[in-house]
Amino acid sequence: MIAENINHIRQEIGQNVKLVVVSKFRRVEEIEEAYKCGHRIFAENKVQALLERYEALPKDIEWHLIGHLQTNKVKYIAPFIHTIQSVDSLKLLQEINKHAQRQNRVIDCLLQIYIAKEETKFGLDAQECHDILNSGILKTLQNIRIAGLMGMATFTDDMTQVETEFRYLKKIFDDMKSKYNLPGFKTLSMGMSNDYILAVSCGSNMIRVGSKIFV
Ligand SMILES: *Cc1c(COP(=O)(O)O)cnc(C)c1O
Repeated sequence: MIAENINHIRQEIGQNVKLVVVSKFRRVEEIEEAYKCGHRIFAENKVQALLERYEALPKDIEWHLIGHLQTNKVKYIAPFIHTIQSVDSLKLLQEINKHAQRQNRVIDCLLQIYIAKEETKFGLDAQECHDILNSGILKTLQNIRIAGLMGMATFTDDMTQVETEFRYLKKIFDDMKSKYNLPGFKTLSMGMSNDYILAVSCGSNMIRVGSKIFV
């Protein structure tokens, strides 16, 4: 089932959109099943779970973090994390850079933009994001790469609302891409199980899907 679901989604989204399989709350055996059908990009939302899965699973997996990251936990994931999709401050970027440097690595970072109507979600607004991208400090951070933006739409059945939020994020992404000279700025991560088709039609090139794969 897991393999069929992954292949089905791959066909729907095409070659130009990356599928990140969200493995949070799943058993290691289920993740292994996805791995065996050739999938290599997985995401967790908690540092502790990420560490456990990293230990338990093959080392050629590209791990992404999609949940809020506290600065004091960066050191645990810095040796292996590929992409941190949930960056919401310059301070966090500095901390990631510091630990990436110690590991002699470059870590991809996506800035998480707040697009939903809900109060609870983490993230930056467009102005805060511009402030980070304009900051002189950013240019000194050699061990991180600002690879793009991530956003989560409002949790609702109102697809018109979701579409408005996705189109807004795509616009911010395009603005930033043309305004700042960041060679690695290529990824727009938006779309989950319930809305990834819509997200891709609005310009997403990375989707994060969990429940639709591990039904
Ligand atoms: C859980 C989660 C997902 C995946 O959600 P599904 O609805 O299970 O596909 C994607 N992105 C983030 C940030 C998440 O926390």
